Amino acid sequence: MWFRRDLRIEANPAFDAALGLARQTSADVLPLFILDPTLIATSGPNRLAFLYDALGSLRSSGLPLVVCAGSPSTVFERLSTTSDLRDVFCADEFTPFGIWRDRGVEKVLSERGAKLHRLGSPYAVNPGVVRKDDGTPFKVFTPFKRVWERSADVSASDNRWTDFASFCWADGGPGIEPVPIPPPPAAASVLPKASEAAAHDRLAHFLEHHLCAYDTNRNDPAVDATSRLSADLKFGLLHPSQILPMLAGAGHGADVFRSELCWREFYADVLYHRPDTVNAAFNPIMEQLVVDTGPIADERFDAWCRGETGFPFVDAGMRQLLTEGWMHNRVRMVTASFLVKDLHLDWRRGAEWFMTHLVDGDIASNQHGWQWTAGTGTDASPYYRVFNPVTQGKKFDPTGAYVRKYVPEIAELDDSVIHEPWEAKGGGLFGGASDYPAPIVDHAAERLEALARHAKTKKTPTA
Ligand code: FAD
Repeated sequence: MWFRRDLRIEANPAFDAALGLARQTSADVLPLFILDPTLIATSGPNRLAFLYDALGSLRSSGLPLVVCAGSPSTVFERLSTTSDLRDVFCADEFTPFGIWRDRGVEKVLSERGAKLHRLGSPYAVNPGVVRKDDGTPFKVFTPFKRVWERSADVSASDNRWTDFASFCWADGGPGIEPVPIPPPPAAASVLPKASEAAAHDRLAHFLEHHLCAYDTNRNDPAVDATSRLSADLKFGLLHPSQILPMLAGAGHGADVFRSELCWREFYADVLYHRPDTVNAAFNPIMEQLVVDTGPIADERFDAWCRGETGFPFVDAGMRQLLTEGWMHNRVRMVTASFLVKDLHLDWRRGAEWFMTHLVDGDIASNQHGWQWTAGTGTDASPYYRVFNPVTQGKKFDPTGAYVRKYVPEIAELDDSVIHEPWEAKGGGLFGGASDYPAPIVDHAAERLEALARHAKTKKTPTA
């Protein structure tokens, strides 16, 4: 059983099938996780810390998980020469890297008379399944959602093996050189516990306290009213099929929450059909947008990364990312918009920074969340919709509680100026009383500049 993004025992069709086969045939299951250097190199300290914690939790739950390091093809090549390896079970993957890796493993196995069985996936509906009547993929969310809702498996698989360990290899597996689960990288933030039980606790807490009012409170970053399940879903400590049945008939809050889960599936579907959009604009015309480069652009990028743009709502978000490895969705949109439309930087620079720091960093949701905000993606927010970082702050953080938490230098300011500290009476703020920077750009001017650049783009369509 090859665990990847399904680090759970319950509702795991691949593990279920592996155990079922072991029971029938008296074979042993080797529960395996492979530390693939390619993925480790791109995961960032927070995701690695969460992953290692999740692996430790699987072991603590009684699973004799074997962890080894190397390229999966090489590991399986070795395993198939040192053991009577016949069947490898895993959840299916749909990212460009995952598809490529699994094809390589499948080839190695088939050359040695073994088979890769893909069962289930990180999604309620596998990417590629939801299609228009004419068989083509959807490019717009709302019609995708209508079909997805009809296709989504809302009956959680109820496999609850209590005796799973008795079907597993007891002594570390044949010919494998196990490695210890690494300690969390030093640069990692303090993260929530990564275990199946902790994910279920988070879900239960959310359902009891926040689901009802999710539709109204989910946009307020100072109120911790979203589920915080993104890293659990990313690593499969929890599967959407375990959540969806609890939302049926549970009111408007539950309907909006279901929609958010569907956005995750929509972006996975989009990336499956357009693997190039990991880096390329979904709308090729937008590749013509002129972006700034050079020393000033780099300085601005660094100020954005550090949370020192002088716009409190933007800076609070960027600092939340640095301290917690997570950022509220509303603020992800505002900070992303600021990078693209106020600083005129390439969305890919921001997406990469997010991927380095997010504990829930997911290639489909991140790249397409960025493309939506930048106006380069599917169903994108129109380019002329430029988020104003001050009015967004006033609207979604009216008391400034979120800003005060992450930007303590200005915590003493009155609510009326917390989102525009340059308006503070007495001018003391920038006269040495605070280290908080003055705004690095003039939003009104940069908004016009963004619109002008976009207008040029539209006039010269790509061939
Ligand atoms: P909730 O509000 O409780 O939502 C429940 C779940 O629905 C989330 O856990 C997530 O799995 C899914 N979801 C919610 N909103 C979205 C969305 N807009 N797109 C896709 N899935 C969604 N989400 C990631 O999981 N990984 C990323 O790398 C990521 N990068 C993003 C980058 C940008 C620029 C933007 C605008 C959004 C990004 N999102 C990403 C989506 C969203 O911000 C997070 O999923 C959400 O903030 C996670 O918090 P939560 O679990 O409390 O969300």
